Amino acid sequence: MTTIRANCPSCGDVQLRAADLTVRVCSDDEQGSYCFQCPTCAQAVAKDASRRIVDLLVSSGVRMEVWRLPAELSEPHLGPPLTPDELLDFHLLLGEDGWFDEVEDMVRRSMPR
Ligand SMILES: [Zn+2]
Repeated sequence: MTTIRANCPSCGDVQLRAADLTVRVCSDDEQGSYCFQCPTCAQAVAKDASRRIVDLLVSSGVRMEVWRLPAELSEPHLGPPLTPDELLDFHLLLGEDGWFDEVEDMVRRSMPR
């Protein structure tokens, strides 16, 4: 069985099996990383990985997950950022009956015609 040596920030070098790691690759920018739980201190560790490291880990039998950046990143963001007061108002509104209709009204009123 292949053992893989990785580095835990608290414990230093640790030995892992392929099943102990996960490689993650973002399909939008092809950034790679790998993560594992340290067998000594149980800390979750995540590290950036170059294409070469990703290929090496995958060819050693480490499972790969492909993920996408959230679609919200490419949405247009108009208007000023939310203030803490607005967030508090919204929180209070959610405690009232009929909050959904009121939010729907607000959205309709703020839409450009
Ligand atoms: Zn550790």
